[in-house]
This record gives sequence, C-alpha cells and structure tokens, in this order.
Amino acid sequence: MKRKLAISLLIWAAFAAGCASVDTTKESAVGVDRRQHMMVSADAVNQSADKAYHDVLAQAQKQNALDRDPATVERVKRIASRLIPATGALRPDAPGWKWEMHVLSSKEVNAWCMPGGKIAVYTGLIDQTKPTDDELAAVMGHEIGHALREHGREQASQQMLEQLGVGLLGALTGVNTQLAQTIADVTISLPHSRAQETEADRIGVELAARAGYDPHAAVSLWQKMDKLAGGNQPPQFLSTHPSNASRIADVTQDAQKVMPLYQAAKASGTASAGK
Ligand SMILES: [Zn+2]
Repeated sequence: MKRKLAISLLIWAAFAAGCASVDTTKESAVGVDRRQHMMVSADAVNQSADKAYHDVLAQAQKQNALDRDPATVERVKRIASRLIPATGALRPDAPGWKWEMHVLSSKEVNAWCMPGGKIAVYTGLIDQTKPTDDELAAVMGHEIGHALREHGREQASQQMLEQLGVGLLGALTGVNTQLAQTIADVTISLPHSRAQETEADRIGVELAARAGYDPHAAVSLWQKMDKLAGGNQPPQFLSTHPSNASRIADVTQDAQKVMPLYQAAKASGTASAGK
C-alpha cells in the first residue's frame, strides 16, 4: 500500500514536471479513444527499442535462428506490406516509421511488435496454429495495434518511474540501456493490461479489414489459441495475452463493425494479391 502511494505521488510529480498526456491514435472505427499518460519521450523509447530489437536479432543470428525459412519471411513481409499503409488511417505518422520484420526460429508460440514498428513472428506460432494469411494478419495487426497505441511506452513509463523516480526519468534521452531492457521485457515477456489488450484487439481487427484481410479471422485465430491453451504446454503468447470467452465475443462484434472497411478494401483491389 505504501509503495502504491509512493508511486501515485511520483506520477503526480511527473505531471507537475510536465509529463505528456497524449492521443497516440486518431478516433478509430472500433472506438478506441482512451487518453494516455507518458513519462518517457517517444524519441527515447523508439531509439531504445531500436537497440533492444537489434540485440534480439543479433542473439537469434548467433543461434542460427534468424530468418531461416525464406518462404515464411516473404509471407510475413507481404502481409506487413498491406497492414502498414493501413496504419495511416489511425496514425498519419505510422506509415513513415522505420518498420522492420523478421522471423525467429523458436518453438514458442509468440509474435510481437516493439515501439516504432519492430516486428517479430516466431516459427512456433506458424507451426502450432497453421494460420491462414487472414489469421496471420490478425496476429500481426494486433501486435501493430500495441505499437500504434504506444503501449510499450506506457508500460515502460510506469516501470522506469518505479525504478528511477521522476528526476532521472526526465533526463532520459536517446538510447538508454536500462530503458532498452525494460522495452524488451514489456514487449516480449510481460503481460499488457486488459485495457491495452482490448485496444490492440480492436485496432488489429480494423487494420486487417482496411488491408483487405477478413477481420473475422481474428475469431478463428483466438479459437485456435484457446485450443492450444488446453494442451500440455500453454503457449507463451497466452501468458502475455490472456484469453477468455468474452475476448472472442468482443472480437466477433468488432469484426462485424469493420466489414464495410473490408469490403471497400477488397473492392478497391487492396486484396488483389489474394490469399
Ligand atoms: Zn496483445
């Protein structure tokens, strides 16, 4: 309780010191509009995320686990190349980010997108869920949703505040080793909040529809994930993305809402690359 009070005082002090209350995304078709409070600058977060991402890639390279299957790499890039332009409807700056995407060989069922658009898809997710392109777009859209809403920055703000306090936090600029580690933790292994998960679900469904991927694939994807959760080894993805019946019901409703966007994208030929 004392710790909680100390943290709220720190947060209050951070506001007084000029921390930012921001709108990361514009009003979305699926109604994501929560105001967010950031205590670390987007620049510091993005530069540190860049370091964290390239550390992960270097580690994978060392283990001979980086982009081993050219067909899967091509598939992830092709889907990303349709989702990324669709981000502009929610965040005009996002299509211009330095997006990167790689496939990591690992038995883990996992995928993530670090702040600033640094995507990883694990082969475990492909092998275990055998996703259609629409389902893979649903996973990637969800992860991109976290990045568009700057959930990593939000979580890192909170964690760094607890570790460093307001004074040092304000001095953070550029690449920071501790911030890079925190971003790796909050992106790869720590759960997002329930509110953040709901936002990423909604934005993921909208992005998929705008990119001409069937938004209902989010439903079958989560059903597949739920099935895996019943097995001996629940996937890592589900420890960071806790699922339940209401999630599937919500995603079904959201998919219905964005059907006109999907049909418009299909009609305009965005989906002409087919499945
Ligand atoms: Zn998520």
